[in-house]
Amino acid sequence: MPTILTHAMVPLAMGLGLGRERVSRPLLFAGMALSALPDLDVVGLRLGIPYGADLGHRGFSHALPVAVLVSLAVAWGLRRTGPGFLAAWAFLALSMASHGLLDALTTGGKGIALLWPFSSERFFAPVQVIRVAPLGLRRLLSSHGAEVLLSELRWVWLPCAGLALLLWGFRRALPAPASPEA
Ligand SMILES: [Zn+2]
Repeated sequence: MPTILTHAMVPLAMGLGLGRERVSRPLLFAGMALSALPDLDVVGLRLGIPYGADLGHRGFSHALPVAVLVSLAVAWGLRRTGPGFLAAWAFLALSMASHGLLDALTTGGKGIALLWPFSSERFFAPVQVIRVAPLGLRRLLSSHGAEVLLSELRWVWLPCAGLALLLWGFRRALPAPASPEA
């Protein structure tokens, strides 16, 4: 996995790029939380659930259909705080789905069960460029950890900065959405 901070870069870039009128602060924080949520499945490793099982690491919690459903529930809860239910759902679904897609670009571990529950097959992207982060802070702070962070900087943080700038440019070109109070 990339580190949790790096997963949060995707919703942060979308939120900063789209602006507060389209991505409210509660929505942004919810998106950042959802982008990290799938890795709570590492708890299963301690409970004896095998890595390769559907409930194991990079299993169901990393699946795209699960991201769509979980984000639906969270968007419903936040429907009064953001830019509208559908836009909030799309933002949150992209935030959570980005986790599994980024993991699929990593150089280690098992593949990602992107299509669960329709398939248990584990997928990797055709190219894997992000150095896989070790599970555990101590190992991340080793010299190998520095390589991981540099890799994430190059393959995630920089593209996310580009995405934020691109969205900011589009935002400048488009009219702002109507305020709900207007
Ligand atoms: Zn993960």
